[in-house]
Amino acid sequence: MTVKKVSEHTYLLDTYALGFPEFVAAYLVIGSRGAVLVDVGYASSFQKLVEGLGEAGLKPTEVEYIVPTHLHLDHAGGVSQFIRKSSKTIVLCHPRAVKHFLDPSKLNASVREIYGEVASLFGPVEPIQLNNIRSVQDYERIEFGDVSLRFIHAPGHAPHQIAVYVEEDQALITGDAVSIECPSIPLRFPTTPPPSYNHVEAIETLRKLSRLKSKIILRPHFGERPWSPSYFDEEINLLNDWRDKVEESIERRLAVDDAVEEIVNEYVERLKEEITLPFYLYTTVRVSYLGMKKYLEDNR
Ligand SMILES: [Zn+2]
Repeated sequence: MTVKKVSEHTYLLDTYALGFPEFVAAYLVIGSRGAVLVDVGYASSFQKLVEGLGEAGLKPTEVEYIVPTHLHLDHAGGVSQFIRKSSKTIVLCHPRAVKHFLDPSKLNASVREIYGEVASLFGPVEPIQLNNIRSVQDYERIEFGDVSLRFIHAPGHAPHQIAVYVEEDQALITGDAVSIECPSIPLRFPTTPPPSYNHVEAIETLRKLSRLKSKIILRPHFGERPWSPSYFDEEINLLNDWRDKVEESIERRLAVDDAVEEIVNEYVERLKEEITLPFYLYTTVRVSYLGMKKYLEDNR
């Protein structure tokens, strides 16, 4: 299964990121006057994305806008390939993301620094032209016939993040403002990566998103969950608990790998069965550790 209808106008596309199912989703919104793709996945999974679009009955040239929720490569990596296939498609993004799409050299260098060897699995990101990009303001609304999208600035995980609210469906596409929870492993892990994670903004964003009248929450990592009154409070608690854990490990002067192993074990012990985290999840937790550590050290 690559494509799944999750609300009246919205489809989940599994991008099979790095070859794994149920790790990175993109969301396709089809209105009576245009289709919009929220997130495009890694450059290296672009072919899967095109297949998913095909299953939903669309060619890339029939997608009017693509909306990378933020500049990380599991969300925006495929942007330049998409534009190469469909030169009339417009990228809608946060104002702070524009310059990095025009010149991704800083972005590429930062990814190499954070991920090392693993970065080669993500695929290349190339520059796109200014006439393919348009930034969106906070709460800006765009109508596509019978469905309209509201773009919500959602900093914290990254300063250039937006969430997308599908108004008629009351469906909220969160970007990485919320945790990662893959269907095969019933645990939520925080997403607090370097270089720009900001804890205060992340909590404010969760409060902001909680005020939208949603029925369904659509997460890139991974999939839909029904809205519940406690969901965003749980997410705030998760982030605060994570901050405390990382803080404690810094005070105890643990080496990064030892600290990550200890924290992962603590999470996994909550499950009844014994599991080993798949490599992409372990890597995500490690990167989240580095981001929170950097934030805490920069804000002493
Ligand atoms: Zn992500």
